Amino acid sequence: MTTSFADERLREAMARIRRFLDHDQPDTPCLVIDLPTVRDRFAAIRAALPRVGIFYAVKANPTPDVVGLLAAEGSSFDVASPAEIDLCLARGAAPEAISYSNPIKKARDIAYAHGRGVRLFVSDSEQDVRALAEHAPGASVLLRILVNSKGSTYPFGKKFGCSPEMATDLLRLAAQLGLVPLGVAFHAGSQQLDPHGWDGAIADAADVIGKLRAEGLSPTTVNLGGGLPAGYLTQPPPLAEYAAAITAAIARHFGDFTPEVMIEPGRAIVAESGLIRSEVVLVSRKSYSDERRWVFLDIGRYGGLAETEGEAIAYPLVTSKDGGPVGPVVLAGPTCDADDVLYQNTCYELPLDLRAGDHVDLLGAGAYTASYSSVAFNGFPPLATHCVR
Ligand SMILES: *Cc1c(COP(=O)(O)O)cnc(C)c1O
Repeated sequence: MTTSFADERLREAMARIRRFLDHDQPDTPCLVIDLPTVRDRFAAIRAALPRVGIFYAVKANPTPDVVGLLAAEGSSFDVASPAEIDLCLARGAAPEAISYSNPIKKARDIAYAHGRGVRLFVSDSEQDVRALAEHAPGASVLLRILVNSKGSTYPFGKKFGCSPEMATDLLRLAAQLGLVPLGVAFHAGSQQLDPHGWDGAIADAADVIGKLRAEGLSPTTVNLGGGLPAGYLTQPPPLAEYAAAITAAIARHFGDFTPEVMIEPGRAIVAESGLIRSEVVLVSRKSYSDERRWVFLDIGRYGGLAETEGEAIAYPLVTSKDGGPVGPVVLAGPTCDADDVLYQNTCYELPLDLRAGDHVDLLGAGAYTASYSSVAFNGFPPLATHCVR
């Protein structure tokens, strides 16, 4: 395999996970997270971007042991709801290490966050800035700008952010209302495969911050959002290329002023630490002439594999029958929903002797899986998570 799963440390991680699975034989499907790999990934990002504040995006994997490990390693956290705030605080994060980065929030959720000591918020609208001034008086606010997310496997579209012009006005308003107009945030799209994918947004952020500083306000901070990638069937460029491109873009666009920088990685910290073990439920054919077999697993779109929508994320697969001859397959989940098909365009070839009861392991499955799994669609329980250390 040409992916990073051939890398020595990840091979050790996969061996730890397999030992756990062989020994404990948990029910499938399940996600197993290798905590040392989470620690490794956090350390690698910190080493690559040493002067940047790392805020782990909790939604990527809210497993309490993952949050606790990252808090102990000195990570800060990007949260989107009161429940994520409670989780981070319960697992050892300080309130100053939390950014409420969701621009869409109820006034009472802002008040709750403020009551629990959270003092940093991201906003993108006048209504929300006014709600912050009322329910989180004196807090710091970053204004999120709309950016082009070309190069991203999972672009954010137009849901979040406002134009740089409006963001500039809203930072002025924030200052008038007694908030601290801290700076600018954005998200250049998830699984960003272009190391230069942040450049345009950094230019826009520098512009907004420069304008306001010239007026006598003192915004200091740019929040680069998420987007750092993980290895799947496609291997992204190395982290060092991202760090170099981001660092160079900040120096180029901010000139003499050195901003405070935050980044909110989710996927890049947890994806490669996770393996999903699934079981084959059924192997069938749709006609005598169709060469492709249909392989139905006990996990699908609703059991945690939401990111297979549009086949955007293609997980490397390992089966308990690997080694013999293979043939093309369509992969599908176990529910009665017609959309519960994982891959029909991506070319997967699996062993010809694959049978019901065999295992199919999905690699790189630590991000956006357990947190996306439904509660009881068709009566299937949500994806269980186990951690190994
Ligand atoms: C989801 C999210 C992230 C994490 O994105 P990744 O692509 O997983 O790194 C970061 N910031 C915000 C505001 C998000 O919504």
